[in-house]
Amino acid sequence: MVDATDAAPLPPAPEPGQSLALLPGLHWVRMPLGFAPWHVNLWLIEDGDAWLAVDAGARSEETLAHWTTLQRQTLGGRPITRLLATHFHPDHVGFAGWLCERHGATLLMPRSEYLFARFLLLDTDEGMTAQQLGFARAAGCPESFLAFLAGRGPLYSRAVVSLPRSYRRIAEGDVLRIGGRDWHVLTGGGHAPEMACLHCPELKVLLSADQILPRISPYIGVGATEPEADPLRDFLESNARLKAIPPGTLILPSHGDPFHGLHARIDALAAHHAERLATLEAACATPLTAYQATRVLFPRVQEDRQIGFALGETLAHLNRLVAEGRVMKSEGAVPGYSKAG
Ligand SMILES: [Zn+2]
Repeated sequence: MVDATDAAPLPPAPEPGQSLALLPGLHWVRMPLGFAPWHVNLWLIEDGDAWLAVDAGARSEETLAHWTTLQRQTLGGRPITRLLATHFHPDHVGFAGWLCERHGATLLMPRSEYLFARFLLLDTDEGMTAQQLGFARAAGCPESFLAFLAGRGPLYSRAVVSLPRSYRRIAEGDVLRIGGRDWHVLTGGGHAPEMACLHCPELKVLLSADQILPRISPYIGVGATEPEADPLRDFLESNARLKAIPPGTLILPSHGDPFHGLHARIDALAAHHAERLATLEAACATPLTAYQATRVLFPRVQEDRQIGFALGETLAHLNRLVAEGRVMKSEGAVPGYSKAG
C-alpha cells in the first residue's frame, strides 16, 4: 500500500497555479495571495471520473487565470463535482461560488462556516462599520485607526465572489468516500468556528486546513461580532483532540509545506500561546486598555491593517486570561485589564 510514510523525501512546492501529484490520487495546488503568507494550498482529490477540490483560493485575476489553466491541464476534462470549503475565510472560499457554478459542483462545508460566510456577504451596510468602530473605541484604539476603519468599508464581500445559496453540511465524525478511500471529517475551533480537517487513515494524511500550520501560528482572534469570545480555549482544546491522529501522519496545511510531526507541532503551538499569556499577564501589573496590551504583544506593528489583526489576537489572549481568573477586566466605556491578586 502506498501511503505518506512510504513516500520519498517531500518534493518542493508547486509553482503558483501549478499542480503536483503528491500521493496517489491527491494533487497539491498552490494559489497566490496578495498578502502574507502570500500563498494558499488547495488540494484536488481524484474521485473516479470526477474531482473533489478542497478550497477554492482567493478572489483575484491571477487565481482565476490559474483555475482556467488547471481545468485544461490537471483536471483533464473531468469536472469538480464536490468542492469542500474548510472554513469561511476569503482565501479559501473566494472562488467557491464561481467554481461551483462553472462545474455544477456541490459545496460541502461545516454549517457554522457556511452560515458565517453567508452572513458576512450580506453584512455590508453602514451598521457594520458602526459596529467595528464601537468595538475599536472600547479597546481604546487611537483616532487614526478609527478613521482607517471608517473608510475601509466591508472587506468580505469584496474578497469573495459569491457562495451557492445551498450547500451540503459536513460535520465532525462524517466519513466521505472519495476516490475509493475513506476520508474522516474532523472539525476544529479557534481560527474559525468549525474548520473542517480531513483525515485519510489509508494514505496516512491529514489535510489540516489552517488549524495546524508548520511555521506560523494560525490567527486566533476576537472580532466585533462576539467581543467576549474565547477562541484560544477553542483552539487549544481542538488541537488536543487532534492528538488522536497517529503521530506518523503527513500533515498537509493550507499555508506552508507538508510536514511530519503533528504532535510536536501541537505542543509547540500550545507553548507559544502559554508564553504569550504569561507575557500579557505580567504586563497587566500596570492596568492596560486592550489597545495598550496590543502594543505589548505586537510592539512592531504599525500599519492600520495589521493593527486590526493584532487587536483581535490580543483580545483572544486577554479573554482567556480573564476566564482563567489571572486578569481582571474593569467596567466602563474603555475597560482596563489588570493582573489579578
Ligand atoms: Zn483561515
